[in-house]
Amino acid sequence: SIKLADRVTSIRVSPSTAAAQKVRDLKAQGREILNLTVGEPDFDTPQSIKDAAIEAINAGDTKYTSVNGTEALRKAVQHDYKTRLNIDCELNEICVGGGAKQVLFVALMATVQEGDEVIIPAPYWVSYPDMVIANGGTPVIVKCGEDVGFKLTPEVLEASITPATKWVILNSPSNPTGAAYTAAELRALGDVLVKHPHVLVMCDEIYDRIWYADFDVCSILGVCPELKNQALVSNGVSKSYAMTGWRIGYAVGPLELVNAINKLQSQMSSCPSSVSQAAAAYALTADQSGVDEAVEVYRARRDRAHELINAIPELTCTLPDGAFYLYPCCAGAIGKTTPEGKKIENDLDFGLYLLDTAGVASVHGGAYGLEPYFRISTATSMEEIEAACAKIAEACAALS
Ligand code: PLP
Repeated sequence: SIKLADRVTSIRVSPSTAAAQKVRDLKAQGREILNLTVGEPDFDTPQSIKDAAIEAINAGDTKYTSVNGTEALRKAVQHDYKTRLNIDCELNEICVGGGAKQVLFVALMATVQEGDEVIIPAPYWVSYPDMVIANGGTPVIVKCGEDVGFKLTPEVLEASITPATKWVILNSPSNPTGAAYTAAELRALGDVLVKHPHVLVMCDEIYDRIWYADFDVCSILGVCPELKNQALVSNGVSKSYAMTGWRIGYAVGPLELVNAINKLQSQMSSCPSSVSQAAAAYALTADQSGVDEAVEVYRARRDRAHELINAIPELTCTLPDGAFYLYPCCAGAIGKTTPEGKKIENDLDFGLYLLDTAGVASVHGGAYGLEPYFRISTATSMEEIEAACAKIAEACAALS
């Protein structure tokens, strides 16, 4: 057998990918599954964006681009960050990679040394801890419960920082909870961070166009420009424009860091796809009404799922500010017994029970570092959401 590197054996395959695979396996066995594990829009990429890509191909945009991405895309990002988030940056402070995931991974690779700590508020996007471990760092998981809106507070941040802290990761709106930070909350976190200039902050804002909250979308760098030398703000086109397969993400950060990311990228992939970059530049600069329409569809689903879940006595659920997930608490089901006589000990048991008896696939809260919860996605049709919630209600009613 092949002796693999520690960086591979020490990490997991993404639990959401594993859950999606389980759904495919069960469907292949002929079982009907209502799939609420989906982490990507159920819309197709808008035709106008596809047309922009086809035009780019026909115009010969089919070669390597500069390592840090095309000027057209970086200009589009610069304009978007300025107008929506009040972030000022130069074009050379922007890097483009093969998805936000890759940009974040390479940013960690560029900075994390053995023993460095990365503060990750839980519940977290499943990839953060493994990305840190793969790069030799130590994830420091900080639980941020429902009582604090699933958000990091300045007190907890201050208490978590040590001389070994390299990064703190903020994800707003959050996958899996949908919680988003207000400008005042970001200001308060920024006040802590400026006192600790050795700490960098990674702001993953991939869902920030899928926004329902009645307060305005904001970014820590727009709110605290003093963090210019400490903040990396990443985003991408995957979720907002239904472009997950095009693989384009980007970030704005301190020049030194962006140069380091580009240096690594120059040896890893040279650049992201030229055609996808052209499509992403078009998506960011074209009329945004398609995004607004998608958000209204997601909002209606969120409202309905929130209402149906909260009507189930064993479950409670907060109302997401953004993104397309709900993160219901299943504490009321823990300790109960299934009709088959099995005791539900934790949220993994609960998720498996839903899958087996109700045919509803979700991802258990343990995967996101905060139990007992489960994540359901609303990137699926209203009919499927309603059918799934009815099945979940039935399954919960059958517990004793
Ligand atoms: N960040 C979060 C919180 C996500 O949920 C995802 C995708 O699931 C990503 C980043 C990755 O996005 P991309 O497709 O740009 O790599």
